[in-house]
Amino acid sequence: MEPAGASHPTPPSFTEDELIAAIRRVLSGDHPGVVLGVGDDAALVEGSRPGAELVLTTDMLVEGVHFDRAVVAPRDLGYKAIVVNVSDVAAMAGSPRYALLSLGLSPGVEPAWVMELYGGIRAACDEYALSLVGGDLSRGRDVVLAVTVVGAVQSGRAVPRSGARAGDRIVVTGALGAAAGGLALTRTPPARLGDALGSDWGRELLRALDRPVARVGEAETLAQAGATAMMDLSDGLALDLHRLCRESGVGARVRLADVPVAPQVRLLAGVLDVDPLALALSGGEDYELVATLPLDGVARARSDLDERFGVALTEVGEVVEAELGYVAVRDDGSERELEPRGWDHFGTG
Ligand SMILES: [Mg+2]
Repeated sequence: MEPAGASHPTPPSFTEDELIAAIRRVLSGDHPGVVLGVGDDAALVEGSRPGAELVLTTDMLVEGVHFDRAVVAPRDLGYKAIVVNVSDVAAMAGSPRYALLSLGLSPGVEPAWVMELYGGIRAACDEYALSLVGGDLSRGRDVVLAVTVVGAVQSGRAVPRSGARAGDRIVVTGALGAAAGGLALTRTPPARLGDALGSDWGRELLRALDRPVARVGEAETLAQAGATAMMDLSDGLALDLHRLCRESGVGARVRLADVPVAPQVRLLAGVLDVDPLALALSGGEDYELVATLPLDGVARARSDLDERFGVALTEVGEVVEAELGYVAVRDDGSERELEPRGWDHFGTG
């Protein structure tokens, strides 16, 4: 997830993915009841009823890393803290049910701010039909929200990151780059923005950043259409698709001209010096889905998504054998390596 401004004083010398790989080695082995452990959007464990599995995920929002309390409205922050977790349950084709929130509060936080925060949390729980059933409160140096969401999925129906096969098509829901465009707006002095902040497209970019949408029904539809692998786009297509390919042991060819760049980001490029394609590939926080589908599943998935949700599905490339690499295809047909670059929680950017 994108930082809100503050950076690490001394950036650690490891990436988030390297740290997760090391943790996976420490935790490896057989664990009773665990269907899928560390390393995907969410874990899968056996449920109390046969035929059902639980989907478990947790995500933390840290002041100074993920948000700036001086800028974000507490209602938006609470809403987003729930949605980003719901999105990870959705990415497994699961249905979110319950949430827990552990909240660290720094000394200067007013009760009214906390009530607004819970107002946003409540709104997101209502929107996605889940119940907040508990949590914890603590004092801390900075504000920290740690949310856990529990969902359900029929046994064998979850879609992990690891099932992509050479020949599958790579598809993306919606449009990309809008949240990163919104972040760029919040980081630019208003005097340099002209009337962008008052425009419809400017407001839409800020809304994409503050009020992400989790693609719950869309993910279920993609699963029904035969998705072989799926994940949500929290850190940008270039980095997240690379993670999916690594878990599946495959490579990818992505046609840059087909990447669905949000139209508002192209308008932003008329005001600020930003590269719309770069924001779409590496901006992060869009919470759209990337999935792989057998060729014969793409048309059905596209028409079902359009009919049920009015959401576009775009084919952006194909899965290839791992030896063929991770490749971006330019408009003129020439190729370059697709750099797996996006927001890394520990990297230097
Ligand atoms: Mg995810």
